[in-house]
Amino acid sequence: MKLLVTGGAGYIGSVVAAQLLEEGHEVTVLDDLSTGHADAVPPGAAFVQASITEAGGVLSEGFDAVLHFAAKSLVGESVEKPGLYWSHNLGGTLALLDAMRQAGVNRIVFSSTAATYGEPERTPILETDPTRPTNPYGASKLAVDTALTAFAGLYGLGAVSLRYFNVAGAYGEFRERHTVETHLIPNILKVALGERESVSVFGTDYPTPDGTCIRDYVHVADLARAHLLALDACTPGEHRIYNLGSGTGFSVKEVVDVCREVTGHPIPITVAPRRSGDPAVLVASSEKIQRELGWKPAHAMLRDMVADAWTASTKPA
Ligand code: UDP
Repeated sequence: MKLLVTGGAGYIGSVVAAQLLEEGHEVTVLDDLSTGHADAVPPGAAFVQASITEAGGVLSEGFDAVLHFAAKSLVGESVEKPGLYWSHNLGGTLALLDAMRQAGVNRIVFSSTAATYGEPERTPILETDPTRPTNPYGASKLAVDTALTAFAGLYGLGAVSLRYFNVAGAYGEFRERHTVETHLIPNILKVALGERESVSVFGTDYPTPDGTCIRDYVHVADLARAHLLALDACTPGEHRIYNLGSGTGFSVKEVVDVCREVTGHPIPITVAPRRSGDPAVLVASSEKIQRELGWKPAHAMLRDMVADAWTASTKPA
């Protein structure tokens, strides 16, 4: 298939683009490089440096589907600059959907998030559970899901939204490297690499066994594989939503311990106040995508995710 991957110079988009190329697809990456890296675009993919609002020209070349990753994705920033999140994530995606309609491209796999659920009433979270995002990032992603449902009903779009929980690990040299790093595992590994003195643990008074937040980590290679299955499952007139996690929760302190084990570094911690908007526990039920699309995580062990991230981060970029 001929596929457009928006945000394919970012962490997850680049791994998906690499896997699509391995499967023999023709891939064009569209990325404005606002947070991505040109050298993360996998060899073999065509690259267009542009915003998603300018996707029309590229799409008119004729594509079979779009995999849409390009987005603003920092929770804290979204609280400070909600307009930026609404215009990029919702406005940008609506422009992309319009351009797709005009070009006759009627399949999309959308990169969504567990932040659409907000503070869950129960775990593991099912796709049918209430969606009450607690920040503009989650709200803007949820609004796109709403738009996709409407477009599927009105225009026969075939859409699949994948709601990621916490993504970790690396795929060969493709790894997480944000200019502003907010994620737990890369921040811990920076300590092991000698780039930071200690890692801050945001809150030790949560109602969890060790007082720190619990998250569900999924390996980026497994997550990427789910996109290939989702692409095949895009059915005109249907919008499907699937959670993606491994179904097991690890506390912040447990993650630090695994990182200590993998790196052999003592990784000092500093207890810091809670980070605003962080739910105590986020664990996915991924039963639906396993049942309907046959997805199965091949690297469900947190140790393997950390080991892959560590190996990739100790190689020169
Ligand atoms: N966290 C932390 N220190 C950090 C980064 C994150 O204690 O330097 C905590 C954060 O408060 C959350 C968990 O680690 O409870 C996972 O955060 P991350 O930003 O990796 O992912 P999120 O769950 O926010 O998507």
